[in-house]
Order: sequence, then C-alpha cells, then structure tokens
Amino acid sequence: NAKESGRGKFCVFSAEMNQRVFEYLWLDTNLRKALENQNLVIHYQPQVDVEGHVTAVEALVRWQSTERGLIPPKDFIAYAEESGLIVPLGRWVMLSVLAQIIAWREQGITLRVAVNVSARQLIDQGIYSDLKQALQQAGIEGCPIDIELTESCLIDNEEQALSLMKQFQQLGAEVHLDDFGTGYSSLSQLARIPVNAIKLDQSFVRGVDSQPVSQSLVRAIVAVAKALELRVIAEGIETEAEEQFVIASGVDSRQGFYYAKPMPADQLGHWLRHYSAKK
Ligand code: C2E
Ligand code: MG
Ligand code: MG
Ligand code: MG
Repeated sequence: NAKESGRGKFCVFSAEMNQRVFEYLWLDTNLRKALENQNLVIHYQPQVDVEGHVTAVEALVRWQSTERGLIPPKDFIAYAEESGLIVPLGRWVMLSVLAQIIAWREQGITLRVAVNVSARQLIDQGIYSDLKQALQQAGIEGCPIDIELTESCLIDNEEQALSLMKQFQQLGAEVHLDDFGTGYSSLSQLARIPVNAIKLDQSFVRGVDSQPVSQSLVRAIVAVAKALELRVIAEGIETEAEEQFVIASGVDSRQGFYYAKPMPADQLGHWLRHYSAKK
C-alpha cells in the first residue's frame, strides 16, 4: 500500500544520501593526503595521426589508493573541482607531465602531451605561470603541450578563459576543445575562440560504422572544423570499422582502446616500439 511504498522510498533515499555524505567525507580526507603523499599516477594514451604515427599522447590521472586500489578520475575529479583541490592537483599533473616529457626525450622519444585542464584552473591562472616557468627551467624549445578544455570552461568566465587560451598559444601550446559536440557551444562560437583542434566526443564515434545519424554528424562536424582550419581528433575508437569510418571522414588523429588503453609512462616506450614494428 501507499504508506509502505512511501516509507520504502524514504529509506532508499536516506541510504543514498548517507552514502553520498560518506563518500564526500572520505574524499575530503583522503584526496588531500593522496596529493601530499604523491599517490596519484598519470597514465598516457597514444594518439595516432593520419600517417599512422604516434606523435602525441593524452595524460590521464589516476589515484592509487591503498584502501580502494586504482581509482578512475570520474570518481574524484568532480569532487576536486568542487573543493578547489583541482588547482594543486592540476599543477601536480602539469609539472609531472613536463618531467616525463624530459625523461622520454632522454630516451629518444619525442612526444606532445595533451593535458586536461578544468574551468577552475583557468580562473586561478597558476597553471599558465607553472607551465611557462617549467618550460624555461627545462630549456624546452616551443611547448609540447596540448591544453584540453571543455566547452564548459567558456561559460563562467569567458573573457578570462579566452585571454588565457591566447596566452597558451603564444607560449607554443595548442588548445584543444575536448568532448566536442556534447556541450552547449554553437558553431559561431567555435569560429571565435582560439582553438587549434577539436576532440570529437566518443558518443559520435561509438558504432558510427552502422549508424547513419552518427555518420552524418561526424561528416558535418569534420566539414565545419575544416572550414575553420581546425584539426579533428576522434576519441574512443574501439573497432576497426570505427577507425575506417573516421579515416574516410577526414579525421586528422585518432585515439581509443583499439590502439591502446591509457598506460603507465614506463610502458609507453615498449608499446611504441611494438606498434611501429607491427606496421
Ligand atoms: P577525457 O579527457 O575525455 O578522456 C578520455 C577518456 O576516455 C579517458 O577516461 C580514457 O581512458 C577514455 N577512453 C579512451 N579511449 C577509449 C575507448 O576506446 N573506449 C572507451 N570506452 N573509453 C576510452 P579516463 O582516463 O577515465 O578519464 C575520464 C575523464 O577524467 C577525462 O575525460 C577527463 O575529463 C578527466 N580527467 C582525466 N585526467 C584529468 C586531469 O589530469 N585533470 C582534469 N581536470 N581532468 C582529468
Ligand atoms: Mg581529454
Ligand atoms: Mg574527451
Ligand atoms: Mg570527458
């Protein structure tokens, strides 16, 4: 009856609330500690260009927790953004990536690295001075960093975001628009903002070989990008059929489990040798 189902619902809701509060408190104590103790780790996922070469990788952070094992970013990035911890976390990611680029160069591996940057980090501005300073210290010519931003970065503080994007580009970094097609930005906005490339979201790529609507969307997005002289990177390629379709559509670069899952830095050298030997 109504009374019972009402009570049942209340209990479920309450347990869920409890769970959320508990999770928030757990993250609040433990993520801060993880950052201090350097229990975060960066995995790298290769990007394959039109010639089939790997000249760039994306840096994706994970949390190595003694309690819970390897925690994916979807379980802590939102919290880090809300709490402001994303600022020191993002700083750690950027400095670690630059150190890794230098270490790879010593092994004869030259790569660009794409780094995800949240809206909150743009407001803080520290990410720009960190990058500039670290490049100078390392004596790196140009800037082998691709800053990945989402459309949401432009919503809250557009003017500041745009000027920071220009500053990144002046430094030699590229700016890439992540998860393109899932946000609210219009095509006219795309023409106005200083970006070098868009990353076509996985949702367009998934099963694209058998879905006419996705096919039309991918072709249309690539056409717009080309008209604006932007490169297109396709995310989430899992099958050969998806690969074939995006290649035929004129995508410039591709990334996905079909090539490799994100991997620890020390596995990348081996993977690259194996990959180029296969071709
Ligand atoms: P993203 O930037 O869009 O990264 C792509 C995500 O898709 C990664 O998930 C990657 O592992 C996954 N992926 C790549 N290829 C495939 C595929 O073929 N199939 C499927 N199903 N998935 C694929 P991940 O590593 O779990 O990262 C999730 C999100 O967390 C990222 O999405 C990014 O928004 C955020 N993130 C990761 N690292 C950082 C960071 O250092 N800073 C910030 N602010 N955000 C980060
Ligand atoms: Mg990304
Ligand atoms: Mg993405
Ligand atoms: Mg994403």
